[in-house]
Amino acid sequence: MELKTNEFTPEEMEEIKRNVFMSNLESIKGWARSKSLWPLSFGLACCAIEMMATGGAHYDFDRFGTIFRASPRQSDVMIVAGTVTKKMAPILRRLYDQMPEPKWVIAMGSCATAGGPYVHSYSVVKGVDQVVPVDVYIPGCPPNPAALIYGVNKLKEQIRYEAKTGKKVK
Ligand code: SF4
Repeated sequence: MELKTNEFTPEEMEEIKRNVFMSNLESIKGWARSKSLWPLSFGLACCAIEMMATGGAHYDFDRFGTIFRASPRQSDVMIVAGTVTKKMAPILRRLYDQMPEPKWVIAMGSCATAGGPYVHSYSVVKGVDQVVPVDVYIPGCPPNPAALIYGVNKLKEQIRYEAKTGKKVK
């Protein structure tokens, strides 16, 4: 919608520019969702220590609106931090299924991404994307808290992009 600028004084136009913006509901929903992600913490091995450190006082995940939840019913992002064993995979999938839509998954570390140092083990899943769809992969063994914060910020960008364009990022 175009504003008819000749209907306003220059001062009024300046006020309008400072206080009014145009958007659509989906973009606003995407923006709001990206600003308050509630991760289901899925700590499975050593990477979980770095995930916990991200929630501690020094890195303070809460300041980004990212607050860990203990229930899948209250979560919209699953951070898989650690080695996914074949025994754990069905449980991980069940918890993912219990999360309400829309939902996202972050694979944190080499193990969750592709099996890591245990890639040749008979008991380890070679990447959590064989069990649930993954939106962001964070490399490292383990990735440090700054890397996790970076990965979450990438997911936020992705959520806003998808809400704005209606297209899924591949
Ligand atoms: S990627 Fe490395 S640090 Fe993370 S769970 Fe696997 S072995 Fe541990």
